[in-house]
Amino acid sequence: MSKVLYISSEAFPLIKTGGLADVAGSLPVALLKESQDVRLLLPAYSQVLDKISSSKLVAEYTYYNLPVQILETKLPGSNVIVWLVDCPVLFNRPGGPYADSNGQAWPDNALRFAVFCHAAVDISLNKLGLNWQPDVSHCNDWQTGLVPALLSLQPERPVTIFTIHNLAYQGVFDRQTFNDLHLPVELWHMHGVEFYDYFSFIKGGLAYADKITTVSPSYAREILQPEFGYGLDGLLQNRVHHLSGILNGIDEKHWNPGTDIHLAQKYNRRSLSKKPLNKIALQKQLSLPVDANIPMIGMISRLVQQKGLDIILPSLPSLLTMPVQLVILGTGEAHYEQQLIEWANRHTERFKVIIGYDETLSHMIEAASDIYLMPSTFEPCGLNQMYSLRYGTLPIATNVGGLADTVVNASKENIEDGTANGFILKNQTAPALLAAVQHALSLYQQPQLWRQLQTNAMSEDFSWVSSADHYISLYQQALADR
Ligand code: ADP
Repeated sequence: MSKVLYISSEAFPLIKTGGLADVAGSLPVALLKESQDVRLLLPAYSQVLDKISSSKLVAEYTYYNLPVQILETKLPGSNVIVWLVDCPVLFNRPGGPYADSNGQAWPDNALRFAVFCHAAVDISLNKLGLNWQPDVSHCNDWQTGLVPALLSLQPERPVTIFTIHNLAYQGVFDRQTFNDLHLPVELWHMHGVEFYDYFSFIKGGLAYADKITTVSPSYAREILQPEFGYGLDGLLQNRVHHLSGILNGIDEKHWNPGTDIHLAQKYNRRSLSKKPLNKIALQKQLSLPVDANIPMIGMISRLVQQKGLDIILPSLPSLLTMPVQLVILGTGEAHYEQQLIEWANRHTERFKVIIGYDETLSHMIEAASDIYLMPSTFEPCGLNQMYSLRYGTLPIATNVGGLADTVVNASKENIEDGTANGFILKNQTAPALLAAVQHALSLYQQPQLWRQLQTNAMSEDFSWVSSADHYISLYQQALADR
């Protein structure tokens, strides 16, 4: 049994902007089930405080003259102990965890997450009177990057794991910010947190953590290449012996078509004939023509370049002449939102765009759709293709990262050997996307074959048990290596 401090800037259901929250809301639960003594550390954003029913004050401290309290609560629906870093001037404000409601990054993000990291470091060293010292401090993404860096200077420290959920987000600030935060000067060099004269939070994790992981084996290989490395491929190559990829699981309680409370009609592998009732319900809700047989293509996503919007938009003129209905739910960059809305307004019978973040609708779209669109330019793991597979909604995906590790193309051979569960683009272009859609539509016309592909998809095992076991082995390895 290891004591694990799991440090994350978001965790479902308390606060979520993307996949990191799903992981941080699931992996600690799975670790606890495997008898690990796990505590989750999160900033006490106002949204989090609104969601918890009770908490107790367990520690107090001051960082940068700002009073900070550590509040203890439980992750809803589980027995995982959550410690919240409560510093109202930094975290208690309207807007998102990283940006205001217009999408502008908070100007004090460096200070906000430096305070969070200092609290994580002091808890890791059992300095806040919590009477608990972790064996492992497991950090996630740039917001936690200073933790391995600061802990590296301490003799009696836990081992550190740094998980990259998305290398594109790095937490880069100017040199003055580093000075203003009074961080140890020993960390300022090209093998430390300095990044071409700038100050990089993520480098603190990549350079100093005992072990680095990413959320799929393919992404672990891809980030060693300049194309996916965002200037950090050289550093990662140096650390390749400490780098591995562990595929995320999914929260099978929330994402189970057999028990999903958001669905008009629950179904499973053996009652797939009921799935179209969800399509009809969504068509009615979105005022689309009601037709159980028309293939519905769904997408739920941040509307950013990474998610393939530059491939999808040029595909729309052809795609919207095909006999399909397209439903996209998302928020993101204003120009993508605008273009999608314009297309949807011109094709009201075929295309609905819902701009916003809507958990219930995301479940309904997964269940209603026949095909799921995920042509990402890169995808560290990706969760929606796994949710789609679980819901018998066949993904159309690019051959990158976690998509390559989970989606098996419906080629003749893969169909014959019973592994096919979706469609892989030949390359990342609009024509390749259209060809994959055509391929999917032609197989959709063969109901028996389509049912077989759905059954293959729904039989995949994406439970957290196997991922949690991999993490536990990694913790043991890191402790043994010390
Ligand atoms: P990323 O973390 O890069 O955004 P992932 O596929 O790993 O992508 O995870 C995204 C998660 O956020 C999924 O659970 C997805 O359903 C959810 N999500 C994204 N956009 C929305 C939205 N507009 N409404 C509801 N859920 C969303």
